[in-house]
Amino acid sequence: MTSLTMEGLKKTYPGGVEAVKSIYLAVADGEFVVLVGPSGCGKSTLLRMVAGLETISEGRLCIGARQVNDLKPAQRDIAMVFQNDTLYPHMTVFDNLAYDLKKRGFKGDEIKRRVEAAAKTLEIEAFLPCKPRQLSVTQRQRVAIGHALVREPAVFLFDEPLSNLDAKLRLQMRVEIKKLQRRLKTTSLYVTHDQLEAMTLGDRLVVLNDGRIEQVGTPMEIYTRPASLFVATFIGSPAMNLIPLDYWQTYGSAQTANALLHDLPKGTDIVGIRPSDLNMHAPSEPHLVLESTLELFEATGAESHLYVRLAGSDQATVIRTAGQPPVAEGETLRFHLTRKALHPFNRATGKRTGDQW
Ligand code: ADP
Repeated sequence: MTSLTMEGLKKTYPGGVEAVKSIYLAVADGEFVVLVGPSGCGKSTLLRMVAGLETISEGRLCIGARQVNDLKPAQRDIAMVFQNDTLYPHMTVFDNLAYDLKKRGFKGDEIKRRVEAAAKTLEIEAFLPCKPRQLSVTQRQRVAIGHALVREPAVFLFDEPLSNLDAKLRLQMRVEIKKLQRRLKTTSLYVTHDQLEAMTLGDRLVVLNDGRIEQVGTPMEIYTRPASLFVATFIGSPAMNLIPLDYWQTYGSAQTANALLHDLPKGTDIVGIRPSDLNMHAPSEPHLVLESTLELFEATGAESHLYVRLAGSDQATVIRTAGQPPVAEGETLRFHLTRKALHPFNRATGKRTGDQW
């Protein structure tokens, strides 16, 4: 039973870059937590601090009840799955998996037990006698995970393990990793810059921005109630539209706009709307209307993206709709949205306004 606790973790690199600014986070036993954020936000640094590959400048890191700040990687009871996990080409899969265990002083029977158990879990038993070149990309990726698995660690760390795969393989491996973690229930910390991967894999997400935590929550909490403009535009594809409040007051049907907008939380000066919350059909409940000109129509198959410009403004907005509506570029389109689609924010603080909205 292993939890992972970070109390005020900081990392300042020599030269002064503050990569991780003060992170408080508790990962529960068996939980799968994804660290997500744009390139340079400090997620790899944080993961490497947990792994023991970077020193901790300040704060306390505990694995279970044990403070591990000053322990070497091998003493931390963790295993890391990397992006470029290289397999020795001249060794069989079995020997590749056994190699690390041998180096750590494990004996033959225990090595055999662990390699066979990992191979069974990953369904690669048939490949144990094969050389890496005889395996497909996903099979090799599974062996890479096997490297971590044979260590039977208390915590798994994943550093963008899928980022070198093409889209189809990424999806396959994502599903495999999720299923594997469900079965093993090993505490896991997973780093990615890919929001879709984060949403689908994590029990909880930690959205990082510039070395700080922007928001922690389940994927749906973060999607339905982003705590900041940063999170609102980072999670969700296409990104959430942001429309200044004064636009609504000018261009909405004045009466409905007033009725629907008058009690937005104090401080709101910009409103976010998910592209999927703008409807071409008017709902029966009270709603706002946006008039726009269609600039670009993008069909992706099951859904379409409509890139429009709002009437009387240069505000670019995107709408996501199922199927392929019969629309033409240049056409004037009206979109409808109800009050519950509004996400209120304050531009200066960058935060969501009001605790209840
Ligand atoms: P991410 O994984 O989110 O892309 P990183 O943790 O790699 O972010 O980097 C966070 C910040 O720390 C960046 O500004 C990066 O340039 C800086 N950084 C990363 N590694 C080093 C290093 N070894 N020395 C100095 N600065 C570094």
